[in-house]
Amino acid sequence: MSMERFVYADNAATTPVSEIVLNAMLPYFREEYGNASSIYRKGRNAAKAIRLAREKVAKGIGARPEEIFFTSGGSEADNWAIKGVVQALAKKGKKHIITSAFEHHAVLHVCESLEKEGIDVTYLSVGPLGIVKPQDVAAAIREDTALVTIMYANNEIGTIQPIAEIGKICREKGVLFHTDAVQALGNVEIDVVAQNIDLLSMSGHKIHAPKGIGALYIRKGIRIPNLIHGGGQEGGHRAGTENVPSIVGLGVAVEEAVKDIEQRAAKTRKMRERLIDGILQIPRTRLNGDREHRLPGNVNVSFEGVEGESLLLKLDLKGIAASSGSACTSGSLDPSHVLLAIGLEPEVAHGSLRLTINDLTTDEDVDYILEVLPGVVEELRAMSPLWEKIVKGEHQ
Ligand SMILES: *Cc1c(COP(=O)(O)O)cnc(C)c1O
Repeated sequence: MSMERFVYADNAATTPVSEIVLNAMLPYFREEYGNASSIYRKGRNAAKAIRLAREKVAKGIGARPEEIFFTSGGSEADNWAIKGVVQALAKKGKKHIITSAFEHHAVLHVCESLEKEGIDVTYLSVGPLGIVKPQDVAAAIREDTALVTIMYANNEIGTIQPIAEIGKICREKGVLFHTDAVQALGNVEIDVVAQNIDLLSMSGHKIHAPKGIGALYIRKGIRIPNLIHGGGQEGGHRAGTENVPSIVGLGVAVEEAVKDIEQRAAKTRKMRERLIDGILQIPRTRLNGDREHRLPGNVNVSFEGVEGESLLLKLDLKGIAASSGSACTSGSLDPSHVLLAIGLEPEVAHGSLRLTINDLTTDEDVDYILEVLPGVVEELRAMSPLWEKIVKGEHQ
């Protein structure tokens, strides 16, 4: 009986390109391959496709098409937003950024690099549940604050941040507000106007478009210098011949992602709750991050006395693709900065597992995970000297 099961539970790391996205993209590889800057028909067709995609992306977040700038992904959008605002405002004496301790590295490492150039950064703590308090943002704003950058939803523990409240505070205090919405898009309703968002990053490959495409929303009237200099594409704000197929793909992906959000989220949430309840039956297991203000498909748990990397390898042998911490840090032995930020001991953080499902996940997939996981945890604990100490009560 060879029953090759495969369960993909790592959608926060990346997603497969959907059929509707792929089909929309295909003509732009070999038929409509024109350069969008060219004057002849093939060029104009490409330009038109980009225009339509820009409209779809804008509509998905309540923005205007002229406020959307295509980038190579979420990381570039984050870099551009933060470096751009700082560069524009530092010369006016605003040299302070407020962010949180558990941002994606595409934000944190930009802030750290700016610190070396004399920018002052406040890293707000996120508390044990992984949620930034709006009053902490308000209290941290100073005369010289240039930017507040707080992610919409965390990629590891899935917690959703009070973005509208933070946006309101920033607008009232006249401080620009950027949010990395890479994980939130398609899971929660985003309205950049109602939520007072000035800049927003998104990425294609987290929402069934290809890797290497993303966008930055920059509210009309905000001027930041370019990150990529060269030709006059993107209204002169981001150089480089447009990645037409991927831009078309992103447009369709955003359109699909914002359709029936509540319906899809409810279905996913139900499976997530079943997963969490089932996994918490395993002794000495904890759920990381707030259970309510949480992305519908995110499960993040820690098993005492278990080593995360070994857990992933064992799950892989059983056909389950999951992650421990973030994909970017797996391979390194440093515990996840996100789990440390919510106060986990490094040892406990090491034994963490992230399962990220979506509406394509099936009840059978959930059953399979719940069937396999307890045995795998037990096997690993049986070999673990740390677990032996824990059960003997020598280790608290
Ligand atoms: C994946 C991710 C990014 C990076 O996006 P890329 O398109 O891979 O560069 C940034 N922020 C968050 C929260 C992410 O999950």
